[in-house]
Amino acid sequence: MNIALVAHDNLKHDIIEWALFNKGTLQKHVIYATGTTGRLLQEKGFGVHCLKSGPLGGDQQIGAMIAEGKLDILFFFVDPMAQQPHEPDITALRRICDTYRIPIATNRQTADFIISSPLFEGYIHELPDWSKYQNRKL
Ligand code: PGA
Repeated sequence: MNIALVAHDNLKHDIIEWALFNKGTLQKHVIYATGTTGRLLQEKGFGVHCLKSGPLGGDQQIGAMIAEGKLDILFFFVDPMAQQPHEPDITALRRICDTYRIPIATNRQTADFIISSPLFEGYIHELPDWSKYQNRKL
């Protein structure tokens, strides 16, 4: 699977700790991350495809991957107590996850449930059928 990891600054320590705990599982997959999160993961020995930093367009790059069917799961540790300069991008990313039914964990506990699910290995992701919408009469 293609998996993306993102964390707001106050949660970066958390996501690194979580990723290290789950390193064996994560490394069986292709990992993408926003710039700073990715750099920190690389420093811990992860093979990661680094995108742009979130506020510089990284969240939108992940959104584009989802729209193109190139991402299966998103682990995005969100800080609910800090304003983000790229708030609209975060809202858009959460919406596109729902549009394409991409599992998204926005906190560590949800991430634990997703990564420990038996579905995590070998899940077949069925895309929603948007043909009715695409063929609607205007
Ligand atoms: P960053 O981006 O990993 O480059 O800090 C995180 C985010 O999208 O807020």
